[in-house]
Amino acid sequence: MDKSENQAEFVYEGIPASPGIAIAPVHVIARGFSAPEVYQIEESEVSSEQERFKEAIDLTKRQLVELQNRLEDLAGENESAIFEAHVMMIEDPSVYKRVLAGISSRCQNAEYVFYAVMQNFLEAMRRIPDPFLRERTADIEDVAQRVLRNFSPDNVTRHMGPDDRHILVAYDLAPSDTASMDRRHVMGFATEQGSVNSHTAILARSFGIPAVVGLEGCVIDVVALSSAILDGYSGKLILHPTEETLARYRTLGDAKAKVRSSLDAKRGAATETVDGRVLTVSANIEIVEELPLVKRSGAKGIGLYRTEFLLLEGEEMPDEQRQTEIYSKVAREMAPHQVIIRTLDAGGDKLPVEPLTEPEPNPFLGWRGIRVSLARPAMFREQIRAVLRASACGKVAVMFPMISGLSEIWRGKEMVRRCMDELEKEGVPFDRDLPVGIMIEVPAAALCADLLAPEVDFFSIGTNDLIQYTVAADRVNPHVADLYRPTHPAVIRLIKRTIDAANDNGIWTGICGEMAGDIRLTPLLIGLGVEELSVGPQMVPRVGQAIRSLSYAECAAMSDEALRHTRSQGVLDLSLSLARKHYAELLD
Ligand code: PEP
Ligand code: MG
Repeated sequence: MDKSENQAEFVYEGIPASPGIAIAPVHVIARGFSAPEVYQIEESEVSSEQERFKEAIDLTKRQLVELQNRLEDLAGENESAIFEAHVMMIEDPSVYKRVLAGISSRCQNAEYVFYAVMQNFLEAMRRIPDPFLRERTADIEDVAQRVLRNFSPDNVTRHMGPDDRHILVAYDLAPSDTASMDRRHVMGFATEQGSVNSHTAILARSFGIPAVVGLEGCVIDVVALSSAILDGYSGKLILHPTEETLARYRTLGDAKAKVRSSLDAKRGAATETVDGRVLTVSANIEIVEELPLVKRSGAKGIGLYRTEFLLLEGEEMPDEQRQTEIYSKVAREMAPHQVIIRTLDAGGDKLPVEPLTEPEPNPFLGWRGIRVSLARPAMFREQIRAVLRASACGKVAVMFPMISGLSEIWRGKEMVRRCMDELEKEGVPFDRDLPVGIMIEVPAAALCADLLAPEVDFFSIGTNDLIQYTVAADRVNPHVADLYRPTHPAVIRLIKRTIDAANDNGIWTGICGEMAGDIRLTPLLIGLGVEELSVGPQMVPRVGQAIRSLSYAECAAMSDEALRHTRSQGVLDLSLSLARKHYAELLD
């Protein structure tokens, strides 16, 4: 249904991915080719707009036939067949009909409606498992771009480009799209795909951009420029809100702002429970641009620096010198607090470290984390040397991702030793006592935590992956989001087992997965005995206040009971009841 027909309020329900409220017009984008301007047209202009579309298609067809003929002369029939396929694409009657119908139902300019139809078509194709068909999307993008160029840009009355403040609506966003988002203009975003634990959602929370994911069908239905409210608390995108709804959201926004400012006043205060158990609240970062946010948050260090986001700078990891400069800057700015630099964790839903000849059938079970580093010793060495060199500028620790057994730790530590020896010989300063830790995010590591603990200085539990691997539910797949339960008895038992093994070996355990920032679960995590919680910078003040409101003894008794519970919901309810009792005002 086209929501522009009657402009009545319409609510899309999705999954809340990053809290906050945004009120702005929507802007719809697609991957692969850039969005044209969008503007409203009068009903009387519908048929002339439809004509513009037909003319653009005819012109494109003529150009393609000409190209086909020219190529046939030069390279023969086989090579030129590609343009024949392109002509067939733009003659596709379903696209043609949808664009003509869309122009009259949406009353928007022809190029924009064409773009909206094509982007849906392309997104559907990108999801096809057949790699041959998937590759054809590049051809379609090419033709679509050509059609867009063949529209004439007259009669522009109202347009919106990405330079206006807007709520972004997209089929899906890659973590790199979110990292490079212009936060002055993007007030929030909504996607059809995605899940709460994707890196896209994690980044949105870090930056404090409200986000809702899993809004099925929104890209094709939403009409660009529609006025909207994005509710990142309950996971709603409200189109054409009534005055009453707007007023309600303004009131809610004010109430949230009050809580925020009361938390602001306590930034940096000690994070100790009422009965004296001290926890460290540190921050997760992906890019150095987050440092000011971290410093403002009052975090006592960086518990997870996701260095794979350096791949956004270019096609490969920056060289040793560049990495040294970046890590040293982070170490210096955070001193005297510790910065835990995680070695490259490329792959999965993050950027690959090098182009793969074929897509992996199961990227999350594939070539990622420490596996890549160990397979590329020259690249690994550069990163470890850079981390060590930065350790002369502040308090630095290194951490290996995706550890599944002892030999990976040994090989990782061997590289650290080798780099230390080299630097010593070269007379380059570094910290000889650099702590070496591992992420516990593979069930094998949690189950063998007693074997791994004697080898390392700390554990940091990566619950995002630990949950997905334990319950076999992809963290970014909305179809299995229901099964992805942080409080699943298997997950909390693995956390407990990890902490017990760490305690037996005199090392500390933190949590740097998203579970650490979910204040409904703070009582449970404290009770299980974690010593550090590393969370998105925006969550630091809230988690700190939750800790200050709780009693360790009460949390420990509750988590003992939780460990005996048979169901995820029961575990969640137990933790939530303490959260409600002690800091109801902080819960969203
Ligand atoms: C995790 O898996 O919980 C984690 C913190 O690592 P990432 O989200 O980067 O995979
Ligand atoms: Mg992980």
